[in-house]
Amino acid sequence: MKNVDEIVERCEELYEDLEYGAVARWKEANPEGAAVGFLPTYIPREVLHAAGVLPVGILGAGDQLEIVKGDAFFQSYICHIPRSVVELGLSGKLDSLDGMIFPSTCDVIRNLSGIWKLQFPDKLSFYFDVPQNFDPEVGGAFYADTLRELLEAMCSLTGRDPKSVDLSASIHLYNENRRLIAKLKALRSEEPWRVPASELYLVLRAGMVLPIEEFSALIEDYLEAVAAREGHEVDNARVLLAGAFCEQPPLTLIRTLERSGCEVVDDDTMLVLRWLGDEVSEEGDPIEALAKAYIAYTGEASCKYVPDGEQKGIQLVRSVRKHCVEGVIFAAPSFCDPALLDRPMLQSALDAEGISYTAFNYAENTGQMQPIREQAGTFADTIKLWGGE
Ligand code: SF4
Repeated sequence: MKNVDEIVERCEELYEDLEYGAVARWKEANPEGAAVGFLPTYIPREVLHAAGVLPVGILGAGDQLEIVKGDAFFQSYICHIPRSVVELGLSGKLDSLDGMIFPSTCDVIRNLSGIWKLQFPDKLSFYFDVPQNFDPEVGGAFYADTLRELLEAMCSLTGRDPKSVDLSASIHLYNENRRLIAKLKALRSEEPWRVPASELYLVLRAGMVLPIEEFSALIEDYLEAVAAREGHEVDNARVLLAGAFCEQPPLTLIRTLERSGCEVVDDDTMLVLRWLGDEVSEEGDPIEALAKAYIAYTGEASCKYVPDGEQKGIQLVRSVRKHCVEGVIFAAPSFCDPALLDRPMLQSALDAEGISYTAFNYAENTGQMQPIREQAGTFADTIKLWGGE
């Protein structure tokens, strides 16, 4: 059995490696393959896998990279992630990638995709336009076409024939991975002392650079190791972290929440891993199966249009109840329109149910944690002294 500390240490090394050494090593071992980066929030990694492409999550550079050139491409009043992604690209740190996929998360990512095309004209750049219409005949049909285009683009990098690739086998692997992540998150909620939020985050982040087979094996190892962990429940405040679905909070922020008495038992970081929710059917036409799963996915996110805005609040309250959450921490990247525009709606839903919350903004390179520690610590104390509702 592997040791928890060794597993977490390896994940932290992968997290800190802005040269993407794991990707370069994978390419060396798979010379016929290609590696393609993707921005948050969601892309169907199954399609890339089937085409022989390693999907690589490019989630920004956190607090580890000084932005020198990236700032020149954007105005000051937008979030940080596009600057650090440009910086990563222009400084050659993404040279091992054969292309990039930009999901239609928001205007910032859309603009970034245009900048990328101009800066890297020799590399594949794919704008992945997911539908905001969830009628199977309209959005579903549009999405299935987009998936076919994506498959063709990925196969063009590896020379595979899109008609003969085994997409169902890839769906099977990702279904297995979804089951493992669900198990891990359930354990975090039931026994948070066994799965601290910062560890869970690092384990899931490793899945952004590892091939899916290795990522699933890593989760299995971690699950086995923490099952044997000795410890006990701590009287921390059970909180849900909301709004961190795109630009990621720095690891120090998650650790700061832990140190200030907050047990993060649910969050919306790493959205790509939980999008689709349930399993994708492994029967029938795999493209149609992926499209159907996308259209049927009922989970809400700020980058998803919902005609009845109240649904987002209903989902948040449902998560609060499911995970016995005592308070919600709204933590959004500064200037993140999708997260910040949803926040008042979500706060109203919590007000109606009498659920406590607090809110602050961050940037992926936020370095000063003391104000956050004080705010989160006070929030946790308030919950413990007067209850979460
Ligand atoms: S952090 Fe928010 S505003 Fe910035 S790219 Fe992501 S979704 Fe868009």
